Amino acid sequence: MTHILHRSIGPDLPRAVSGEGVWIADAQGKRYLDGSGGAAVTALGHGNAEVLDAMRRQMDAIAYAHTSFFTTDAAESLADRLVGLAPGGLEHVYLVSGGSEAVEAALKMARQYFVEIGQPQRRHIIARRQSYHGNTIGALATGGNEWRRRQFQPILPETHHVSPCYAYRDMAAGESPEEYGARLAVELDETIRRLGADEVIAFVAEPVVGATLGAVTAVPGYFRAIREVCDRHGVLLILDEVMCGMGRTGTIFAHEQEGIAPDLVTIAKGLGGGYQPIGAVMLSDRIYRAFAEGSGLFQHGHTYIGHPIAAAAADKVVEIMARPGMMENVQAMGERLQSGLESRLGQHPNVGDIRGRGLFRGVELVADRDSKTPLDPALKTHAKIKKEAMARGLMCYPMGGTIDGVRGDHVLLAPPYIIAPEEVDILVDRLGDAIEAVL
Ligand code: PLP
Repeated sequence: MTHILHRSIGPDLPRAVSGEGVWIADAQGKRYLDGSGGAAVTALGHGNAEVLDAMRRQMDAIAYAHTSFFTTDAAESLADRLVGLAPGGLEHVYLVSGGSEAVEAALKMARQYFVEIGQPQRRHIIARRQSYHGNTIGALATGGNEWRRRQFQPILPETHHVSPCYAYRDMAAGESPEEYGARLAVELDETIRRLGADEVIAFVAEPVVGATLGAVTAVPGYFRAIREVCDRHGVLLILDEVMCGMGRTGTIFAHEQEGIAPDLVTIAKGLGGGYQPIGAVMLSDRIYRAFAEGSGLFQHGHTYIGHPIAAAAADKVVEIMARPGMMENVQAMGERLQSGLESRLGQHPNVGDIRGRGLFRGVELVADRDSKTPLDPALKTHAKIKKEAMARGLMCYPMGGTIDGVRGDHVLLAPPYIIAPEEVDILVDRLGDAIEAVL
């Protein structure tokens, strides 16, 4: 009997006792290929000696110093590194302890920015349906996953949602990707106007949608059109790269591949690579200056922001992922994973779409390929696939149910960036076996 309230009460979880590279071993000695990086977290795999050493050195020096009294070399170095790697426009870093915290901080930063510059009437946040931005109250209100929101709805602050960019299901027959992207930008523009153009704070979106859709990239030009709409109305653009950022899609920042400069970006997961809980908000100089020249503070803060051991771990993780060859491996192994999945599952009658970017891939499962009819959520296909995959020594991240706006079961794959070609092939084989055992 356990005293822990686990995510799901009931199933007996294996005990993880060691990890090396892309593998985790349980107490029985069974090995699992970490095909999902946990939840897109373990960017460098398990047991990276350099990261462990950086943490040890920081622990020996000083484990904790409150940020209202001190800064630390670790936090300063991490901030410098992130700004140095950012494609442009993001010049400051606010360190937190995870993804939801990063989203909360970004929302408050966006609101305070308008208070600082004399536009306190701005109060609306717009995001997209079928999105996930975290589980705390503000982040949950921002996300558009109805299943996660439903029972908490009465205590969520009001937010507004527009359509996601989900070409597989929502691009109309005869419509080009450019026309589809432009149509979605018009929807955002109309939503902003309806709410009152000078009353909207920010639009929030994941550059590549992770948990709710399964590695869905936007059509070309979508984010440029969205940026233009935000600029037209003075609305801030917050990109949530908690899952898709930090190298996951083959570039350090996911939005590098969209050719736009956001006002705020949230990062977490791959930032600490699982070695430490850490997240961050990166912000433009314009927002920073509004604070610096205004009240002189960002009115927020948690006890553990800028934690030295977390910062030291993340600084080393990011240094390693930015070394020559690492992003190339993400791109090459991502292509291998995509083509492996296509050859193994591309003709399967219940596989509707195989997609993604870098080592961030999704397989959408359907009842019928031609009509794209989703699987009956009552079948709980995603849960069965997870069980079959674990039995075969594979961690993958199936999500699903077609209830309330979460359309289609899918399996999300996000292995560590150090994965070798033969390990990609094992991942494809085991996933293929698991899916075929269920469907
Ligand atoms: N934002 C996105 C895009 C995410 O995928 C997640 C987690 O999956 C979060 C925010 C929340 O991050 P955390 O679970 O670290 O609080």
